[in-house]
Amino acid sequence: MVPSNMRMAAPDRVEPNFVQDMLAATQFRGDETYFRRLAENAPETVAWIASHGISFIQPPYYLAKGPPRIQPVGGGAAFVRALTRAAREAGVAILYQRTAEELLVDNGQVTGVVVSAGTVRKPIHADAIVLACGGFQGDKGMMLQHFGRGAETMRLISPGTLLDTGDGIRMALAIGADRAGDWNGMHAEPVDARDPKSAPVVLVYPYGIVVDRSGRRFFDEGGGLVHETWEWFARDIHFNRTGAIAYAILDRRLCLNRFAWLMSCRSLRSPAARALASILVTAAGPVASTPWRKTMASCLLPRVN
Ligand SMILES: Cc1cc2nc3c(=O)[nH]c(=O)nc-3n(C[C@H](O)[C@H](O)[C@H](O)COP(=O)(O)OP(=O)(O)OC[C@H]3O[C@@H](n4cnc5c(N)ncnc54)[C@H](O)[C@@H]3O)c2cc1C
Repeated sequence: MVPSNMRMAAPDRVEPNFVQDMLAATQFRGDETYFRRLAENAPETVAWIASHGISFIQPPYYLAKGPPRIQPVGGGAAFVRALTRAAREAGVAILYQRTAEELLVDNGQVTGVVVSAGTVRKPIHADAIVLACGGFQGDKGMMLQHFGRGAETMRLISPGTLLDTGDGIRMALAIGADRAGDWNGMHAEPVDARDPKSAPVVLVYPYGIVVDRSGRRFFDEGGGLVHETWEWFARDIHFNRTGAIAYAILDRRLCLNRFAWLMSCRSLRSPAARALASILVTAAGPVASTPWRKTMASCLLPRVN
């Protein structure tokens, strides 16, 4: 289940420093007006979603500390189910297996969209069109163009994201839309690339040290809370580290301390968690004589989404 974290203090309010946090996360390249509008509209939007039968909880953070967040009960799938039902009840017709290809324009006004199903192309006329085709992470050419060499080999966080090939952006640009926002921004997370499932994140790195293939540290693991560092950390691994791989080295006390272990389970959704558990069970006596063996676990982190 995808939990769908929403960076809100509670369903009816956003943290006062939300806009500053977003600006900092984008290294001040993001659009402040956009962030402000997002913050202003969030409580009303969440109330609207709740009016369709979705309730929200406030889960603990990935590690021990972080900004508050809310999650819909039932995750993202519950959103989709509730809003699909509401749309149908309101008389919306949903057409599946269609690809939007091109916007129709008459006299400077958008009047519809050309949609294809297999080899059949057909116009659909409308007073307004909302493009909701996602980003361009599924298009290697656009990834290369906007993020540079190596971006085309980034592992996507889930199979569905492959379908986001920038079509909506291309359609809008083709009819003269302006570009806005930070095109060099992305959400990236360090993942365990041995694990094929969606989002096998490895977010325990602030509890230890991280080294590259030659055993050198390259990153300040405690430079910020996870949500403040994961994107640039993941990008550094992917773009700058040999083999796009790094190793987190954690003290075994992390695992022996039950509280810390529970915290790390939430932040380590990969086979590494199982490996750690089995080391815990099988470790006989003090784990010890070399600095490497004193450490509890390494694993991880190639590729980012
Ligand atoms: C595993 C995972 C976990 C995430 N967790 C969180 C989280 O906790 N909190 C959070 O805020 N965000 C999270 N996100 C990010 C969030 O899901 C996205 O930012 C959000 O879904 C983007 O919404 P969207 O409508 O722009 O695009 P999408 O949700 O990607 O939807 C785009 C849709 O358009 C379809 N499409 C593409 N091109 C065409 C075309 N030409 N014609 C017709 N249809 C087309 C695609 O198939 C897709 O169904 C997560 C994403 C993933 C993958």
